[in-house]
Amino acid sequence: MEIDIYNKYKKLGRGNWGKDLIMWKAMYTGLLTRFKEEEFTPFVEFFLNLFLDLPKARREGKPIIMHPFNYGPELFHAMGIEPLMQEIFSVGLAPFHLNEPYIDYTNKIGYGDNPTLCNAQRPLIGTYLQGAAPIPDLLFFLSTPCNSLAMTYQVFHNLTDVPMFNMDVPYWLYDEQYETSEFYDEKTMDYMVKQVKDLKNWLEKMTNQNLDIEKFQETMKLVNEAREYVVEFNELLKTVPCPVESLVGFGNFLVMVTKGGTTDAVNATKYLRDLAAENVKEGIAGVPDEKLRIMWPYTHVFFDQDLFPFLQEEFQANVIMDILGYYQVLPHDVSTIEKCYESLAKGTLDFSMIGTCRGPIEYYIEYILNFVKEYKIDAVCMPMQFACKHAYTMARVASEAIREQLGIPVLIFGCDPYDSREVPLEAIRQRISDFITQVVL
Ligand code: SF4
Repeated sequence: MEIDIYNKYKKLGRGNWGKDLIMWKAMYTGLLTRFKEEEFTPFVEFFLNLFLDLPKARREGKPIIMHPFNYGPELFHAMGIEPLMQEIFSVGLAPFHLNEPYIDYTNKIGYGDNPTLCNAQRPLIGTYLQGAAPIPDLLFFLSTPCNSLAMTYQVFHNLTDVPMFNMDVPYWLYDEQYETSEFYDEKTMDYMVKQVKDLKNWLEKMTNQNLDIEKFQETMKLVNEAREYVVEFNELLKTVPCPVESLVGFGNFLVMVTKGGTTDAVNATKYLRDLAAENVKEGIAGVPDEKLRIMWPYTHVFFDQDLFPFLQEEFQANVIMDILGYYQVLPHDVSTIEKCYESLAKGTLDFSMIGTCRGPIEYYIEYILNFVKEYKIDAVCMPMQFACKHAYTMARVASEAIREQLGIPVLIFGCDPYDSREVPLEAIRQRISDFITQVVL
């Protein structure tokens, strides 16, 4: 980035951010240093601003709500409440291995271990007890995608006394097009809409304000606009060769989970859609000489940010999707206030990972089978850890279905995506390389 821009962001990061934001500030500084040598794209700008938003909200006296990675923040933005997607913190530390001392500390105090509780959230407890975690004004989380996540947020609530709201996400299909399916239940929507309204009432009470209906509708229109761009982007990924490289789609997820319902999200998703569309038009491949298209229906190995670039370089393999990055909430009718509430409910039921992991195993299997066919996938890879009990169970059954029905090879490899010490990156890369050379090619 140009030196003027770098200096501007350096200056913006100065000052006292507050005791509990020490680590948050260190992450901002680390990112700025990392981005210094890179082009200043709208995404670099987006990330830097994301970190600056928290101290800014504090200065302006805006309430901060902590929420997990599986919930869109539209309602919070509509009410002028600053969302803090917690895993930006507890998982964002993983690429720098800064989460590992806190994982050890959390072990030491006896709060779980990898086989029982996921290290995506566990560092929150260790960092909090050592005075390094951001402390929000409010806390929100859901019953999905896992008991592990819900447990850690409950523990955080009990330690901090931060007021919390918990949403129960049901199993069943809601769309009338599935009316004849054994998994359809007409009560699903009503159940969810009621909880969305309860959340709205709780937020009003906690922040001593009423939801501004006009602002709410405007927010829902903006989230729709961004979703339209993401839908178009996802369609463009079907092109062979794929017009963008492996990690680009993850940008859509990060935008929607932090800024859904704002003009920032509209601009960022439009930028990615335009990038993909332009590359398709010009015949540019995200991975030059693309030879393999990989589906990754699970999370990244977060501590190894260079894994996908490695696969690109070694095998000209493009990881077309991961379970979070492939954001698939559709635009909805938001013409009335009631429809806006419905849209919030549908957005929650279909959110990345929730839509595929909140119900019977058939949701996940069907999702993978369809994706493999539509996106012309050559191989499926997924890391797997014990703590992710539901995915652990689904992965093996899904892999059998993929092999039997489509003849596509699948690799499931054990590792903790958040802790580099369980299975080191060299072993992971070797395992995937062996799979590609001995089974796929
Ligand atoms: S990786 Fe699995 S266990 Fe960990 S937070 Fe995500 S869904 Fe839960």
